[in-house]
Amino acid sequence: MFAEVIVDIAHTAVDRRFTYRIPEELPIAVGHHVLVPFGMGNHAKEGFVVALKETTDYPETKEIVKIIERYPVLLPEQIALAEWMKKSYHCLFVDALRIMIPAQMRGMRIKEKKVRTVALAENIDPDAVIESLERAPVQKRVFELAARIGAEVSVSDLNVFYPGCTSAVEALIRKGILIEQSETVFRRPSKLKIHTPEYTLTDAQSHAADRIRAASERGNGDVLLLHGVTGSGKTEVYLKAIEDCLSIGRQAIVLVPEISLTPQTVGRFTDRFGDRIAVLHSRLSAGERFDEWRRIRLGIADIVIGARSAIFAPLERLGLVIIDEEHEASYQSESQPRYLATEIAAKRVKTVGGVLVLGSATPSLMSYTRALSGKYELLELPDRVAGRPLPTVEIVNMRDELLMGNNSIFSDKLTERLSECLASDQQAMLFINRRGYATFVSCRSCGYVLKCDNCDISMTYHKTEARTRCHYCGAVKSLPKECPNCKKAFIKQFGIGTEQVEEAVHRLFPAVKTLRMDTDTMRDKGSYEKLLSAFHRREAQVLIGTQMIAKGHDFPNVTLVGVVAADTTLNLPDYRAPERTFQLLTQVAGRAGRDHLPGHVVLQTYEPNHPIIRFAKDQDYKSFYHYEIMERKKLLYPPFSLFVRIVFADRDERTAEHACLDYAKRLEIEIRSILGEEGKQDLLLLVAAEAPVARISGFSRYQILIKLLRTKRLKNAIGAITAFHDLHRDVCSEVQLEINPQEMF
Ligand code: ADP
Ligand code: ZN
Repeated sequence: MFAEVIVDIAHTAVDRRFTYRIPEELPIAVGHHVLVPFGMGNHAKEGFVVALKETTDYPETKEIVKIIERYPVLLPEQIALAEWMKKSYHCLFVDALRIMIPAQMRGMRIKEKKVRTVALAENIDPDAVIESLERAPVQKRVFELAARIGAEVSVSDLNVFYPGCTSAVEALIRKGILIEQSETVFRRPSKLKIHTPEYTLTDAQSHAADRIRAASERGNGDVLLLHGVTGSGKTEVYLKAIEDCLSIGRQAIVLVPEISLTPQTVGRFTDRFGDRIAVLHSRLSAGERFDEWRRIRLGIADIVIGARSAIFAPLERLGLVIIDEEHEASYQSESQPRYLATEIAAKRVKTVGGVLVLGSATPSLMSYTRALSGKYELLELPDRVAGRPLPTVEIVNMRDELLMGNNSIFSDKLTERLSECLASDQQAMLFINRRGYATFVSCRSCGYVLKCDNCDISMTYHKTEARTRCHYCGAVKSLPKECPNCKKAFIKQFGIGTEQVEEAVHRLFPAVKTLRMDTDTMRDKGSYEKLLSAFHRREAQVLIGTQMIAKGHDFPNVTLVGVVAADTTLNLPDYRAPERTFQLLTQVAGRAGRDHLPGHVVLQTYEPNHPIIRFAKDQDYKSFYHYEIMERKKLLYPPFSLFVRIVFADRDERTAEHACLDYAKRLEIEIRSILGEEGKQDLLLLVAAEAPVARISGFSRYQILIKLLRTKRLKNAIGAITAFHDLHRDVCSEVQLEINPQEMF
C-alpha cells in the first residue's frame, strides 16, 4: 500500500502530493499525522496522509517512518475542504490543512496530560499491611487514606493530604501494596456558572426553530438567514435548534465574534448543554486548546462554540452550523488562507447535508440580497421578546451645538439624559468609534466631507505627508484652508478618543465611577472579562468604549446609550462604510433597555440628515437595505461588481514598484482578451499604484486594484486572473492575490 502525503512545508515548490510506501506494521489511514523522510538528506519531516492507493508509477518510493498521533488528525471531509480552499483562496494545500489542527501539534510541541494514579492491589489483608508499616508512619497513613477512598486516586491528590508523600507512595508501589496506573486528563478552560431560565418560546421564535428543523430534515445543506431585531431572543432559537440537532444524533458548531465570546455567552450555552460543549477561542492556553480540540475529535464533545477558526472543528457528525452576528468583519481571515468563515460553513453543511443558520439584527447586504432572491431562506423576529419596546433614538445635530457656542464633546441633550440616568441609579454606555480617529477631513460648520473626485470615497488624512489621499485610486489633495462648501475655516481632520470622553464625564459628574474599554486598556489577558463583569456587578455606572462595547452584551440595567460621534465610520474610505455604520449604530443602540426598563439612545452627529443616520434612528433595516443597495448599484460597487486586489511587497522599493507595474500591464491584456469585444465594459477599473499603507515592517508595498462588473463573464475573468497569478507569484518577494478584499488599505 502507498500513501499520498502533503509534507508540512509551506512552499509553492513542494505543495503537492508525495507518494510513500506504507510499512506493514504501520496501520496508516487517511488523515494520519506522520513523519516521512524528505529531500536529499532524507530529513524527517511532518506530513499529512491525504489518500491511500494500491500502486504507484514511481519506481523508488521512500517509507513512512512513524505515526505521530494514534488517531487520524484530519477527517476525509476536512481534506476535501482543504483541497477546495486551495482552489478558492489561492492558498497552499498545506496552509489549509494546518489551520484544521491546533498549532502546537505541529512540531510536537504539545502533549497529552497524564496523571499518575494509584489503587490498592487486590488480595491484600489490610490489617497485615498496617502491621507491617508500623515503622513507616507516612506510608501507613497514605495506605489508610487509599484504603478509605477505595478507588483509583491521583498521586497529586494524596499530596494534598500529606504534602511530600510521593516517596512513601513509591515505596508502597515497590512493595506491591499499591498498583500504579496513569490516566489521560483533559485540561478544561474554567467556565462561569450562570443559571439561565428555560423560556417558553414566543410564536416567532418557535416558528423560526420549526423551519430550521424542517431544513435539517431535508438535509440539502440549506442556508437560513435569521433576521431578528436586537433583544428579539435569537439565542433562544439557537439553543432550540441545537437541541433538535442533537436529538437526531448530529452535532453543531456555533460561531460568535471573538469579542462577544465572553464567559457570559459560553455560560449560557454550558448551562443548557453541560459537558457536551467544547470552547475554542484565542484566550485558551495551548494545553486547553489542544484538549478541547481532542474532546471534539474523539467524539466526547458534540457542540463547539468558538470564534472564526472553530468553523474547522473536526466533528464527524456535523449537522448544524450557527453564525451569530453574521455581518461581522471578523469572520474574514486576514492572513493566509484568507477564508471567510461563512463560506467555509456553507461548503461544509452542503457536503454533510446539514443546515447553516446566519443570525443578525443587521444582516450584511450580501446575505439579505441572497435571502430576497430565495437563495437563503429568510426567518424573521421583528419584535423584542415580552413586548419590550425598542429603545427611542434622538438625533443631535452637533453643528447646531457649535453655533450655540457649545464646543464640548457632549451636547446639551446627552448631558441632560446622562444626568437623568445617573440620578435614577441606572447605567449608561458611551460609545465612540476609534477606527475613524483623525482620518477624514470635514467641516465642523456645514458638515462637508472632503471626498475624492473620482470615487465618492472620503479622502484619508496622512499626518506625515500633511495631505490627503484617496485609498481607492491614489489621488492626492492638499488640506484645504477653508471649506470648499461654506468657505468657513472650520475644516479639519476629525476625531475624538475614549480618554477625552472619560475626562469629560468626570468633569461633569465628579462622583460617578467610570470604566473605559478600548484596545489600549485591553492588552492583558482576561482584562476584558474583568471589566465586563465589574460593569455587570454595577461597580461603575458608565462604560466608555469603542466597538468592543457594541456587541452582544446583555446588561439589564443599561437604559442610556450615547453615541458621541455617530458619523466617524460613515466617512471611512471604504464603499462599505455606510453599511458598517448602520450595523454599528443599530448594535450599540440595541444595548439599551434590554430588560424591563425602557431604553434611550442619543446619536450625536454632524450629518443629521444623512439617510444612514435617519435609518439608524428608526432602526429600520429594510429601508436601509433598499437605499443602500440602490447606492451600490449607482456606483457599481459590490454586489454589482467585484474587487480584486494584488499586493506586491519587497524590501527594495524599485523591485516592488516594477513588479507591480509590469504585472498590471500584462494582466490587463489577459483580462481584456478573455472578456473579448462583448465584455469590453466589464473591466471597470484597473489601477496599479503605491499601496495606501506604503510600508509595513521594512517592506515597500504596491498594489493593483481591479473592479469587475458582475456578469456571466466574471468567472472567466477571475479564472484568467488566478491562472496568471499562479505563473507570476514570484515576481517579487511577496505577491498576494485577494478576491473581494475586506479592507482596501
Ligand atoms: P438577541 O440575541 O436577539 O439580541 P437575546 O437572545 O439575548 O436577544 O434575548 C434577549 C433577552 O430576552 C435575554 O435576556 C433573554 O434571556 C430573553 N428572552 C429570550 N427569549 C425569551 C422568551 N421566549 N421569553 C422571555 N424572555 C426571553
Ligand atoms: Zn479616488
